[in-house]
Amino acid sequence: MVEKIEHIGIAVKDLEQANTIYENLLGIAPYKMEKVESEGVSTSFFQTGESKIELLEATNPESAIAKFIAKKGEGVHHIAFAVKDIKAEMKRMSELGFTILNDEPKRGADNKWVCFIHPKNTKGVLVELCQEIKE
Ligand code: ZN
Repeated sequence: MVEKIEHIGIAVKDLEQANTIYENLLGIAPYKMEKVESEGVSTSFFQTGESKIELLEATNPESAIAKFIAKKGEGVHHIAFAVKDIKAEMKRMSELGFTILNDEPKRGADNKWVCFIHPKNTKGVLVELCQEIKE
């Protein structure tokens, strides 16, 4: 099972501009900005209670975020659930017929192991699972 909504990911065209908007909206500054080269994204994170808001800007035109924005425009891109044991959850979900988009957990932003579940299985919502990296 999942533990909580860890964060909501929002695809944006201009991270700096979006940071200002979300700083104003939330009344707090991002606690972290991070580039994830492997995913072709720049991110920023806002702590909103026990959950977070992640803003994502594409760093290249091949990035999933660039493709998402080209197709759907800016907006909510994924919902991320925290899990204790990401491999066990990937196995559990794939046995139930969910399409896991990566075979192994990969290193995501904000010190997490992550994987994604295809939106075709989840009523159009891209789902991320994430587990804190402890080392
Ligand atoms: Zn995310």
